[in-house]
Amino acid sequence: MNIVDNREVIIKGNYDVIVVGGGIAGVSAAVSAAREGAKTLIMEKSIMFGGLATAGLISWYEPLCDSNGKKMISGIAEELIQLSAKYGFDNLPDVWKDGNNTTQTNKKYATYFSPTIFAMALDQYLIENNVEIILDCMATFPVMNGSVCEGIVAETKEGKVFYGAKSVVDATGDADIFAKAGAPVVSGDNYLSFVAHGINHEAIEKYNNNNNMLFLRKWFFEGSNLFGKGHPEGMELAKGLTSEDITWFVLAGRKLLFDKIKDQDKNSRDVTTLPSMPQFRKIRRIVGEHEFVAIDGEKFDNAIGSCGDFRPNGKGKHYQIPITSLYNKNYSNLIAAGRIISASGDGWEVTRVIPVCALTGQAAGLIAAINKDGINNINYIELANKLKDNKVLFV
Ligand SMILES: Cc1cc2nc3c(=O)[nH]c(=O)nc-3n(C[C@H](O)[C@H](O)[C@H](O)COP(=O)(O)OP(=O)(O)OC[C@H]3O[C@@H](n4cnc5c(N)ncnc54)[C@H](O)[C@@H]3O)c2cc1C
Repeated sequence: MNIVDNREVIIKGNYDVIVVGGGIAGVSAAVSAAREGAKTLIMEKSIMFGGLATAGLISWYEPLCDSNGKKMISGIAEELIQLSAKYGFDNLPDVWKDGNNTTQTNKKYATYFSPTIFAMALDQYLIENNVEIILDCMATFPVMNGSVCEGIVAETKEGKVFYGAKSVVDATGDADIFAKAGAPVVSGDNYLSFVAHGINHEAIEKYNNNNNMLFLRKWFFEGSNLFGKGHPEGMELAKGLTSEDITWFVLAGRKLLFDKIKDQDKNSRDVTTLPSMPQFRKIRRIVGEHEFVAIDGEKFDNAIGSCGDFRPNGKGKHYQIPITSLYNKNYSNLIAAGRIISASGDGWEVTRVIPVCALTGQAAGLIAAINKDGINNINYIELANKLKDNKVLFV
């Protein structure tokens, strides 16, 4: 059967920058582009901003500093950690409450946050920064004219719609736009991990002792840790590239938790929030001009900022990320942000966490806003100066 989709395309607005995906990277990119004066639209297929950090219930903001308390990341990533802690509970150490610590400390500039309250705060953050928002809008493919993306076709309640753009940031978490543009991409492997939030007697007691909602919201963590410990024996690794794969991964994760709680006293606990997006760490990333592999201390003369290493073996490690990890030269106005940038091995591990997604998002949004003559002709000095003016650190 050959099914042809000849439905009429409803033409919507034209934008300087369209950001596809409203996770942390997308929010950062959209705010960054709009602050640069670009008419910016953020397009999100769900109805909530924050992606894995909020809808995915991850809600632990990895550190903005290295293990010695040296701040590695600021700019929008720091605005967002502060925003995540502003209206809901947090456990930012006192030295980092206002972000201004300059002394050596082993206290991490990291925090738990309420994913639901943070998601609401992100709505207002986008609106206050003049970003136009379209929710419940699934980008289906980029309209390519040679190397140039002329805009995005999306599926909405109204049907098939088109939004025109001068530049597009792919912040989909799985390089959906690059892949559908025909760009080279690489897929990842995922252990089965499952996070849900709930409440139980132990949490209530902790809350009563501390009078702090942080203790009332309990993180139920099932399955594998980051390194594969706890992955069900014999279970294949998931890719997240087909609905079938996503379905078994999600059902298997929910079953792990259900099997654990179903025989407990039903009045003793509740599962209050299930993740509303699949919790894959690495789905797909672009093949860019530089594959970032995280070599400690390596500097780039085209860096877009720096980061540390959140992992136990990452103590004291410093990295810079080059602009060339955010694009493929054959796609002149597509820019990658967040966990889809061109990175492999340790490079993918350190760049996929929330603060680094915010950093690459901020850079991607700015690149998109100033991209006039194609990605290969970006004026790097102008970009670096603007990033520094916007508090991005180059350590
Ligand atoms: C189990 C697990 C534990 C983790 N633990 C931590 C941790 O403790 N701390 C930490 O900092 N990080 C952690 N991470 C990593 C981190 O949460 C994510 O990598 C990061 O939040 C990704 O941000 P992003 O914006 O790049 O992508 P995402 O959060 O995936 O956002 C992508 C957004 O794009 C939308 N989208 C996708 N396709 C389309 C489309 N076609 N059209 C429109 N919208 C679309 C999605 O709905 C989503 O909102 C963890 C991840 C996992 C899975």
